[in-house]
Amino acid sequence: MDLRRELQRAHDAARPTLATGRVADYIPALGAADPNAFGLALATVDGEVHGVGDWQTDFSIQSVSKLFTLALALATGEAVWHRVGREPSGTPFNSLVQLETEHGIPRNPFINAGAVVVTDRLLTLTGDAAGAVREFLRAESGNPRLDTDLVVAASEAEHGHRNAALAHFIASYGNLENPVEAVLGHYYAHCAITASCRDLALAGLFLARHGVRRNGGRLLSRSEAKRINAVLLTCGTYDAAGEFAYRVGLPGKSGVGGGILAVVPGRGTLCAWGPALDRAGNSVGAVAALDAFTTATGWSIF
Ligand code: GLU
Repeated sequence: MDLRRELQRAHDAARPTLATGRVADYIPALGAADPNAFGLALATVDGEVHGVGDWQTDFSIQSVSKLFTLALALATGEAVWHRVGREPSGTPFNSLVQLETEHGIPRNPFINAGAVVVTDRLLTLTGDAAGAVREFLRAESGNPRLDTDLVVAASEAEHGHRNAALAHFIASYGNLENPVEAVLGHYYAHCAITASCRDLALAGLFLARHGVRRNGGRLLSRSEAKRINAVLLTCGTYDAAGEFAYRVGLPGKSGVGGGILAVVPGRGTLCAWGPALDRAGNSVGAVAALDAFTTATGWSIF
């Protein structure tokens, strides 16, 4: 199969959809992104890397970082599953409503509330949660320049009333180990990391390799990698994970910066990016490209 040609076709299929989306601006520093930017990258477990369009342009990874915080928390210490669930929430990513009836235990690690708990755990385990994510991404992507965009992180903090409310609410149930301000600082700093489709596709390969890192060392057991992929499939793409599974058929994590990282276990990873989002918060172009690619190639878990 000519993978490069398939990527180009998927890219071409996605382009016309870009005009139907909207760039996220609730974090003001994200609002300046170009809605017509679009890139798509593929990395395989055999070491091939291909890309089309703006695949080497840096963007704000936002919630794509949450899959790395979860992987590192699970790799570094005991499980976090008594503090966060693994069911789809059926509510927006930044919703507060379930936390009260569910006693401060967020539904899953990929909504904001759950990611705050995982960041807290990683902060306890490493002393530097955002730094741990950054170092991991640098090592796996081979890009030593990959870093947090401090302007985006500051913009998130300044407009982060909802995340602060979530974090304080979780703390009121005794489900945070560190001060709210410290946890939020690390949460914003890992969300505000900038990376390209190329970087993220390479960084996510450990999930396609069933837990094995670029250097051959094991980050997670095969079973843990399977479980992260399972939670990505059911909870990784906001309140549209069912639609994403239907159209793309892969575990994936999206972010409001417009990136989606998808895993083809045993084969590779795909990362698509376009800042124009649909109503659920997923990049319209990224979903369209992944849909086109997996439909044409059969690269799906189903
Ligand atoms: N940092 C963003 C927030 O907390 C992440 C949102 C996202 O990408 O889903 O709102």
